[in-house]
Amino acid sequence: MKTRVGSLQLGRLPCKSQHTTTPHPRPPQRTERNRTRLSRLATALPPTMPSPSLRLAVVGAGAAGLVAARELRREGHAPVVFERAAAVGGTCLYDAAPAASSADPLASGAAHSSLYASLRTNLPREVMGFLDFPFVATAVGGGADEDPRRFPGHEEVLRYLEAFARRFDLYGLVRFETEVVRVRREDGGGGRWAVTSRKLGEKGKPDEEVYDAIVVCNGHYTEPRVAHIPGVDSWPGKQMHSHNYRISEPFHDQVVIIIGASASAVDISRDLAGVAKEVHIADRSAPACTCKRQPGYDNMWLHSMIDHAQEDGSVVFRDGSSIKADVIMHCTGYLYDFPFLGDDSAITVDDNCVDPLYKHVFPLEVAPHLSFIGLPWKVIPFPLFELQSKWVAGVLSGRVKLPSREEMMEDMKAFYLKLEARGWPKRYAHNFADYQFEYDDWLAEQCDHPPVEKWRKLMYAANSVNKAARPESYRDEWDDDHLVAEAKEDFKKYL
Ligand SMILES: Cc1cc2nc3c(=O)[nH]c(=O)nc-3n(C[C@H](O)[C@H](O)[C@H](O)COP(=O)(O)OP(=O)(O)OC[C@H]3O[C@@H](n4cnc5c(N)ncnc54)[C@H](O)[C@@H]3O)c2cc1C
Repeated sequence: MKTRVGSLQLGRLPCKSQHTTTPHPRPPQRTERNRTRLSRLATALPPTMPSPSLRLAVVGAGAAGLVAARELRREGHAPVVFERAAAVGGTCLYDAAPAASSADPLASGAAHSSLYASLRTNLPREVMGFLDFPFVATAVGGGADEDPRRFPGHEEVLRYLEAFARRFDLYGLVRFETEVVRVRREDGGGGRWAVTSRKLGEKGKPDEEVYDAIVVCNGHYTEPRVAHIPGVDSWPGKQMHSHNYRISEPFHDQVVIIIGASASAVDISRDLAGVAKEVHIADRSAPACTCKRQPGYDNMWLHSMIDHAQEDGSVVFRDGSSIKADVIMHCTGYLYDFPFLGDDSAITVDDNCVDPLYKHVFPLEVAPHLSFIGLPWKVIPFPLFELQSKWVAGVLSGRVKLPSREEMMEDMKAFYLKLEARGWPKRYAHNFADYQFEYDDWLAEQCDHPPVEKWRKLMYAANSVNKAARPESYRDEWDDDHLVAEAKEDFKKYL
């Protein structure tokens, strides 16, 4: 049987799960005796045959790592979550003073988060939340800091993730300020992995422990992708990446060029227009002759992409026009990066495509003992993380079956052929703009979970239309109150 994901065919469905009962949540089994028993059990099994209860390492305690930990534990596994920050939340943990130095302003430096101070969500909260833990004020906990807006500020998103961690008792699973520095496949089969981690700020030898499987949730918003600009090395201005942008004040009276046209570029250009002398947006998809003043602004223009930069401080666009600029801000997205994985992980990152993976989660060669949660972009991330996590948890316990390696390979090849037929470059492999819900529903089906709610799909579409129609005010004006009412009715099940 074939399943279609939008116009991209994702190929054969693996066997359905063996039984349909929801596994009863069990506390993690953390005693030494149990660990030894579980390790022995895992060693005795061939790499592709999962064990009913495994000791698992989860890398990262952002939204993906938290929901992965919950799902793994619900399935009866014993996850340990490694988090190099001192708190949960990942990129939602706002970092007011990113550490990019003036010597290397484009580097990720030690910045933990990619959020800017003014950030409000670009998805309505009803859509954004996990499937069974609605992102509503009651779930977040209310209180004096509450931000009840439908498109709240980033602080509210962090409060929501903290509330999720409290509600599902996840804090005890997390080893804070502990960085995973190396994940190495154990010799001798069994699919186990040695994890080397280091407690930050402590000297001495890093720890090494063996786990039955690794679930990678390290996010993809920390390693900046930077546009190549001929001549920029001798251009005297300042370059930075949106990763290190926080507030507009330092750009007072400056001429800023923003490269990019996606969510961050849109938000930051509007933020800057309030204080900067001029803001120029360079969009590589705009025709070469583009030079348009932006509606509603007298100091913001849209251009084609930058052609080159010059020593005299000017920056030349593809139409030959030029401006003298103080700052070039790269709002050009991020790169996937797994510095702790070696060749034995059996994946590569080529042109920002993580490969070869079955359904963007399992590396073919080492499945299911290594998995990735959260690679897809242009999605509603939290519900997708949740469904991927349910799938991984079920596969690891043997409740849900993966197809044979050959079938997974065929599926992946078919996926790449479709990508090619669309004329999409490899770096769009994890761009799910056109088929996220088909993918979500496919995952749900594997886990005997209901598909994503109809109201959520409709609301997501309505928000896209509203955003295009009211780019300045979509967060405060909308036409889909009937869907909000439906969502709230649905949420009663969980509150
Ligand atoms: C500017 C911006 C705006 C956004 N707006 C929205 C929005 O409006 N709505 C929405 O739904 N989503 C939005 N998103 C996306 C959403 O925030 C992310 O998809 C989500 O937070 C990613 O979660 P994650 O757990 O995958 O990764 P992260 O949040 O990046 O978490 C990864 C965690 O892994 C840890 N880690 C990494 N490597 C290691 C290691 N080696 N050892 C130990 N720990 C490690 C990191 O410290 C981090 O805490 C936005 C993202 C950005 C950047």
